[in-house]
Amino acid sequence: MILKLISATDEWCITEEGFHPERNRVLESITSLGNGYMGLRGNFEERYSGDSLQGTYIAGVYYPDRTVVGWWKVGYPEYFAKVLNAVNFIGIDVKLAGKELNLHTWAPQYFQRILDMRNGELVRTFQVRDEAGRLFSIQAKRFVSKAQREIACISYSISLDEDPMGQGAEVTFRPYLDGDVRNEDANYGEDFWLRCEESSTESHQLVTMETKKSHFRVAAASSFRVFLGDRELAELERSLTVHPRFAAAEVETVLQAGETLTVEKTVAVTTNRDHRDAEVSRRALEMLQERASFRYSDLFQDHSEAWHQTWRDSDIVIEGDSAAQQGIRFNIFHLHQTYTGEDPRLNIGPKGFTGEKYGGSTYWDTEAYCLPFYLSTSDPQIPRNLLLYRYHHLEKAKENAEKLGLKGALYPMVTMTGEECHNEWEITFEEIHRNGAIAYAIFNYVRYTGDEQYLEDYGLEVLVEICRFWASRVTFQPRKGVYMILGVTGPNEYENNVNNNWYTNRIASWCLEYTLEVLDHLSAKNRDKYHDLIDRFQVTKGELEQWADIIDKMYYPVVEELGVFEQQDGFMDKELLPVEAIPQAELPLNQNWSWDRILRSCFIKQADVLQGLFFLGHLYDLETKKRNFDFYEPMTVHESSLSPCVYSIIAAEIGYREKAYELYLRTARLDLENYNNDTDDGLHITSMAGTWMAIVYGFAGLRLENGRLTLRPFLPDQWKSFSFALLFRGHRLKVTVTADEVAISQIGGSRCELAIHGQNYAVDADSEVRAAI
Ligand code: BGC
Repeated sequence: MILKLISATDEWCITEEGFHPERNRVLESITSLGNGYMGLRGNFEERYSGDSLQGTYIAGVYYPDRTVVGWWKVGYPEYFAKVLNAVNFIGIDVKLAGKELNLHTWAPQYFQRILDMRNGELVRTFQVRDEAGRLFSIQAKRFVSKAQREIACISYSISLDEDPMGQGAEVTFRPYLDGDVRNEDANYGEDFWLRCEESSTESHQLVTMETKKSHFRVAAASSFRVFLGDRELAELERSLTVHPRFAAAEVETVLQAGETLTVEKTVAVTTNRDHRDAEVSRRALEMLQERASFRYSDLFQDHSEAWHQTWRDSDIVIEGDSAAQQGIRFNIFHLHQTYTGEDPRLNIGPKGFTGEKYGGSTYWDTEAYCLPFYLSTSDPQIPRNLLLYRYHHLEKAKENAEKLGLKGALYPMVTMTGEECHNEWEITFEEIHRNGAIAYAIFNYVRYTGDEQYLEDYGLEVLVEICRFWASRVTFQPRKGVYMILGVTGPNEYENNVNNNWYTNRIASWCLEYTLEVLDHLSAKNRDKYHDLIDRFQVTKGELEQWADIIDKMYYPVVEELGVFEQQDGFMDKELLPVEAIPQAELPLNQNWSWDRILRSCFIKQADVLQGLFFLGHLYDLETKKRNFDFYEPMTVHESSLSPCVYSIIAAEIGYREKAYELYLRTARLDLENYNNDTDDGLHITSMAGTWMAIVYGFAGLRLENGRLTLRPFLPDQWKSFSFALLFRGHRLKVTVTADEVAISQIGGSRCELAIHGQNYAVDADSEVRAAI
């Protein structure tokens, strides 16, 4: 279903014109705001009794929701971690001349919602007319501060535009905090929160609650000021309400025609992730107090400046296609809203702060798709923290492997704390390829940043444990003299319990190869350090020999006559059909076909062999990539949002420019157009990083070779030019691609050597090089 509510012409704003209650959830997802610490869907401030998914989330505050499965299997996790719907802090009850403002029961005459991505602000403007003919204009603005992560601000204005009787109108505002919230996605419909304290005074409202089982304490404190025009109405009497998990204060005044009444609400949210239990409420109140004299516009200033800096380092500008421009900015905006990287305990949920699906937990998506974005657009500490997150979970990953009767570390497919949360056997036990992505991320980070120290301090230990896992998970097949990996699910989740998924075998072997390489490198560089680490991790000579043997004798399924890698043993026994053979009405398959039929079919959910050719692209030639692309792409349904970007990048690399562009379009506006008909329950945050890669790795052909950037750019026919910012080892670069030229400029910095279409160039500080393409 295509969402045609959004005008694609404004390149910095997402604008919804007119009120569309039937699409409200989709728009709520799209207009979500966040700052890495907390976030919320585009819910209304005033009451709304129509269809809505109320959602406010605080990073890292989760609940271990007891697992539901049909038939328990040993090794299943006890719980699925869920990021919690937390206290609703935006709420403001409004009455206009005694009538409750609720757009479900009082249809607006005009309605517009704008997400301003340049400044990170949501602005909603609408008008309602009452029975007495009075016309009210309402403007609700808000932001979740990028400058001060615990702070959010709301400005809610009401103007009386027309007043035929000339009597004015009573206006009542009741700003509130409401902790009586539930997750829609709760396994047993449980209420996850316990009350701690609440209060409502002239100066503030406070609601503090604690999660059951996980004992996260969260305090939300709010205060508000009321202005008539620019004059503060400090004397208005406040009528206070407080009851369990709820605090409010009501003010009332009369508005005359032509006047505007504004309530400015400031909110501070603190948790015991950062403060001691006893101090959580106090800190929230102090933070409010510190800002008591600031107006919305003051706090907004710092926030929008922080956004401007972020855009400076990560914007992509596309000339000649405003829909594409808006699409990529939308993706970049939401990635930065989701993860800001100061806190290594946090990660990137596939839905970020925009919905409950996937529980806000961490998937392999982070390493496989998101890391490159943060590597190229952020301070290196930020991607480093993504890696440290896994380092800190190493002990849990070892326990996880042990639970399955295996050695080393098996990182979870879905996690909040390092423990596995996914409870479908074909994923929990079988999608073990995720370990490969975690090792690959270490390789990717080190090759991009040059931070070899990371390997010594943290990375090598993770690699060693991952190798131990692979060494215990392979099966030696004596009849054939090869190692196999049996009973797995590859990245393509439309095949379960297969033997020798090419990608899994390849990435497993690559993990061993890379670890041995790191060890060799270290031993040549610093013999003492090498011995020190080998001793610390108790790596034996026998182990190293075993790893080398596995590399040597790993079995890879191939289709000799076609010169392609076989996705898994037996894939060629299937009836091989192109996606075009599926009647349109039967797509997407996961909503129309039985699981049995999906498993028997050849259709591929997402990049699998191609995922390997993308990750390990430096080890395969273009002809190999082309043959595999030609074979697998026609059978791929791309029913994971993570899929088209990988195909797009490879299509670009092998010269299929039109195809690359067509696949890019599937990812760039996925949520804005609601292509998969599932944006109502949240945005596809992790695939947004794939969209970024489709431009930077795909159209610009960015790669890293021997510590140097290389580019093989081309301009899609539909565009006049595109340019992007890139941070690389202290160089702040800007790459601009036009039809026949690429220009690379550097702001400040020092000489940066790179290659364009195989030719060497150097960009000096504050200068530019140009090359014909
Ligand atoms: C994909 C997985 C992915 C998960 C979360 C699934 O549909 O098949 O690869 O990790 O979504 O994004």
